[in-house]
Amino acid sequence: MPELPEVETVKNTLIPLVKDKVIIDVDIFYDRLIQSNIDDFKKDIINKKILGIQRYGKYLFFDLSDDFILITHLRMEGKFAYHKTSENIRISSTTLAFYFSDKTSLCFNDTRKFGLMYLTTKNEIHDLPMIKKLGIEANKIKESDYQELFKKLRKNKPIKNLITDQSILCGIGNIYADETLYLSKIHPLTKGKDLTNNDFINIFNNAKKILDKAITLGGSSVHSFSSNGIDGKFQEELLCYGKEGKICHNCGTKFHKIFLNGRGTTFCPNCQIYKPIEKAIGITGKIGSGKSTLLNHFKDLNYLTISSDELIKEIYHDPVINKKICKIVGFIFNIDKKEDRNKIKLKMINDPQVKEKIEDILYPVLENRLIKIIEENDDVVIEVPLLFKAHYQYMFKKIFVLDIDESKQIEHLKSRGDNVTTSLKINNDYSDLNLDKVYIIKNNSSKEELFKKVDEILNK
Ligand SMILES: [Zn+2]
Repeated sequence: MPELPEVETVKNTLIPLVKDKVIIDVDIFYDRLIQSNIDDFKKDIINKKILGIQRYGKYLFFDLSDDFILITHLRMEGKFAYHKTSENIRISSTTLAFYFSDKTSLCFNDTRKFGLMYLTTKNEIHDLPMIKKLGIEANKIKESDYQELFKKLRKNKPIKNLITDQSILCGIGNIYADETLYLSKIHPLTKGKDLTNNDFINIFNNAKKILDKAITLGGSSVHSFSSNGIDGKFQEELLCYGKEGKICHNCGTKFHKIFLNGRGTTFCPNCQIYKPIEKAIGITGKIGSGKSTLLNHFKDLNYLTISSDELIKEIYHDPVINKKICKIVGFIFNIDKKEDRNKIKLKMINDPQVKEKIEDILYPVLENRLIKIIEENDDVVIEVPLLFKAHYQYMFKKIFVLDIDESKQIEHLKSRGDNVTTSLKINNDYSDLNLDKVYIIKNNSSKEELFKKVDEILNK
């Protein structure tokens, strides 16, 4: 879908080609393209001269003679195609053709047929609902707009959804939103209400920087009007969008992808940690350190308790995922069988590449499921053995890390029939222990002692 810079590029490319041309005829091949009265459109567009083109958000306004304005929106796939002839110009996706007095022509081609046109006048344009509800242009925000924008953005909704809301800021779509939040070091799930005025100003500045750069680069790379998505040069400049599974240049962490309002959202879970959901309580720690025991304690305290190992097992049952993982490990398995689970565990321990490939499949699915659970429920406690490794810190307001001496750990592992040698090889990395919300708890004595320590922290 073309975003602001692409539409700007379409405008800049079109102007020298169609400015001062007079429309002498029009063919409409798909009536629903025209949102204003179609008979008036056909009648009023004739003998109008194109005086110029302006862009407002993702709309293009063709200034016509006699104070008429043709509004167009490319939507998903709409493209203009200019022809030096007016014959044989129609292709299968052509929904409209304008014919000019100098025997040239301009087609609107739209495979998805979501594009729209509306003919209006200078007097009426600002009263049109579709134009009236458009917010401030994202690359033209002035200081005098700040207060109004702060008010509109300080909502209990993810900032990603707020900055892509065209009635607040117009012109930021999916690509530029991900890029803007990455540069601003703000997690896309952070609620607008949790951000400061300085955060918002930072977002405005970065959005402008990115959009202006994209406009400059887009202008030099688009040779036709097929401004389909992002063209050439700016695509090479993208730092975050579409990079899930790739490494963040800033910190070396893999980019994550989650879904927000059904739209893919890429972010670095290490660089963009500013006040994201931070709602649930997390439990992590070494294998055999008492995580499940603590989870059960929370269950007794009426929390909703979630074991991510159980969720992972569910995810393994997904036929598509199961097939992918069978291919990676090289054998067919039944995740409900303990011996099969151990076979996979062993394979992952012995082959780090296999481990990484499997994690790359499971973690994003798990992440999206956890986010959904946390957003829909209060008082959730989640046991995540891989919490730090998977960079899930942003989900939790408190994280309990259970620590245990090896002798005690071996005792636990033996008592539940785990293979001690294999289990001890599972390394959990706790790189983020210095966060304020992380509580490290030694679990070397009784479970009563453990619960007492945890309850004290909860009641603080
Ligand atoms: Zn990073």
